[in-house]
Amino acid sequence: MSQDLRELYQEVILDHGKRPRNHRRPDDATACAQGHNPLCGDRVTIYVRVADDGTIEDVAFDGNGCAISIASASLMTEALRGRSVEQARALFARFHARVTGEAEDAPDAALGKLEVLSGVRDFPVRVKCATLAWHALRSALESSAAGTETVVSTE
Ligand code: ZN
Repeated sequence: MSQDLRELYQEVILDHGKRPRNHRRPDDATACAQGHNPLCGDRVTIYVRVADDGTIEDVAFDGNGCAISIASASLMTEALRGRSVEQARALFARFHARVTGEAEDAPDAALGKLEVLSGVRDFPVRVKCATLAWHALRSALESSAAGTETVVSTE
């Protein structure tokens, strides 16, 4: 990765870490789940509103943690609105493969802006920060009852 690209990615992460998008607690969520990363102390709660046809109409989060965990949650909420639950699951699989280093080290166009987090693959302890919001999201999507709260730990 070029130095310029690395710096650009760093800027996007810092921006989302400092001014997270969709950082709120909607009162019309159909499901929510809390994620906790004990290694770093990150805690995020993900709220989703899924329409009857399976479209994610709204996704937001609150909580606090390191810049990576907050930036990842912020970028995730931006990436998921308007997608189907199936698309969200598929995107998590690609994102997970990219940041854990399971996939080959090449940019994945399907990830869009999420690609800025790809650098964590070189820092295993940061992978849990970057995937925390996604683990919580998956847990929220799996809970069928409205308002179910599940605690997921990335350990
Ligand atoms: Zn963290």
